[in-house]
Amino acid sequence: MERNDHCLDLIDRLNDYLDGELSAASCAELEEHLRQCPECQELLASLQQTVDLLHHLDDLPPPLPPALEDRLIHQMQQQMPFKQH
Ligand SMILES: [Zn+2]
Repeated sequence: MERNDHCLDLIDRLNDYLDGELSAASCAELEEHLRQCPECQELLASLQQTVDLLHHLDDLPPPLPPALEDRLIHQMQQQMPFKQH
């Protein structure tokens, strides 16, 4: 197996890199490696997708307002047959 050990070293930093928390020097080192390592390019791409996905989750609309939820529950309870007794 000709696995580049440097990759493993960089994988730990990819998260920080995507978060923009990596120092300029580490960034440059990582980008330099990415240029010549298709494996890491792929890894970064999939990691980027995951991060994008997480950010989209943050954009989800807030849950129903409690008043509306109460009204829906009340409505459902009224439609239940056993409530007619
Ligand atoms: Zn690599």
